[in-house]
Amino acid sequence: MIGSETAGRAPKRVSVLGATGSIGTSTLDLLARDREGFAIEALTAHSRVDDLIAAARRLKPAVAVIGRADLYPALKDGLAGTGVEAAAGHDALIEAAERPVDWAIGGIVGAAGLEPTLAAARNAKVLALANKECLVCAGAVFKQELARHGTALVPVDSEHSAIFQVLAGERPERIERLILTASGGPFRTLTRREMADVTPAQAVSHPKWSMGAKISIDSATMMNKGLEVIEAFHLFDVPEPRIDVVIHPQSVIHSMVEYCDGAVLAQLGEPDMRTPIAVALAWPDRMPTPVKRLDFAQMSALTFAAPDEERFPCLALARAALQEGGGVPTLLNAANEVAVQAFLRRDIGFLDIPEVVERVLSVCAAPVPRTIADVLAIDADARRCAEAEIGACARTVVAAPDKSRML
Ligand code: NAD
Ligand code: MG
Repeated sequence: MIGSETAGRAPKRVSVLGATGSIGTSTLDLLARDREGFAIEALTAHSRVDDLIAAARRLKPAVAVIGRADLYPALKDGLAGTGVEAAAGHDALIEAAERPVDWAIGGIVGAAGLEPTLAAARNAKVLALANKECLVCAGAVFKQELARHGTALVPVDSEHSAIFQVLAGERPERIERLILTASGGPFRTLTRREMADVTPAQAVSHPKWSMGAKISIDSATMMNKGLEVIEAFHLFDVPEPRIDVVIHPQSVIHSMVEYCDGAVLAQLGEPDMRTPIAVALAWPDRMPTPVKRLDFAQMSALTFAAPDEERFPCLALARAALQEGGGVPTLLNAANEVAVQAFLRRDIGFLDIPEVVERVLSVCAAPVPRTIADVLAIDADARRCAEAEIGACARTVVAAPDKSRML
């Protein structure tokens, strides 16, 4: 059915960065449904070499790249006889990302995606951006790079895709407020005392969305919504006080825009990332997807509540970082990435994540980044500082095992 839409047109040339992740596999699912409509240039992954081999055998990109150089022999073997070029290592990943395409998706997680995503932006007509950390850590510098190359930026994050859709044809100066919806994550109703003991397994099991580990933890701390406020600021040029967050546990409304006449426009749909990916893939057109349709007659109430910034301090930390500007969001992002990894390794507790971020923001310097090299230097500093804070947290946990219960 999808194929009939594109029959007779030249195939769209596409690259998928982070092809083995949650965003990557949802993208590949859409691409696989229309083999005539899309020609795949590059698929990239970091370490899941078997998944990359399987995807490359199925979709026949021109090149498949694994970030970890030590996995090259496995990739080469796995692709033998397929005609798909195998490559490995950081430089190969950048080279593959740089290949000219009509459309590339940035589906790498974290600031590690910054350089590959910018490489893709150099020669892609459209950059579909899922990797919100790029905008959080590099903001203005990232946008300048895109402008320099004339690359169109289409958001994939569901909230930003919703806003992008409801803004179509509207005048930006008529926007009064952006309203980002948030599911509230798996710990929406927990007290802080209860949160002190949660495990990584509990934190990654999101009630509504199936996603990678890092964004799932970010959703549980609500740092994800904080990162999304910063992302919305950069994408839509709306100042921080006019970007609201509302808890909407059903995840049916993906976000809203309020205009100067009081009208609020919303975008609704099932919580399935294939819709926002398809919006970006077909933009400025639309394409059919197999996503389940909303059944309004079966739908229970849609509910809304204000976020609780005391139980979820990450949201306020992100807002404060955006207000301070300069390199502070870069610090916030890097500290959060390091803290989330430490929590996943069980080196720190769940409530230590905002503590580590707050400490890094208070002790690290954050000059205004003018170049990507500046961003990477601030990011590296913040990571060193966060590791030191985590060492201190871990020592405190050993000295007083019950500390977390008292928070
Ligand atoms: P994931 O962990 O499922 O996948 C991450 C991908 O990035 C994998 O393909 C992995 O191989 C690759 N990768 C990881 N580290 C890398 C590195 N150092 N170098 C190169 N490649 C590397 O993550 P995800 O859930 O798909 O999220 C990807 C991005 O999209 C994140 O920035 C996330 O915030 C954003 N996002 C995801 C969702 C979702 O539903 N999953 C929704 C909105 C936004
Ligand atoms: Mg989102």
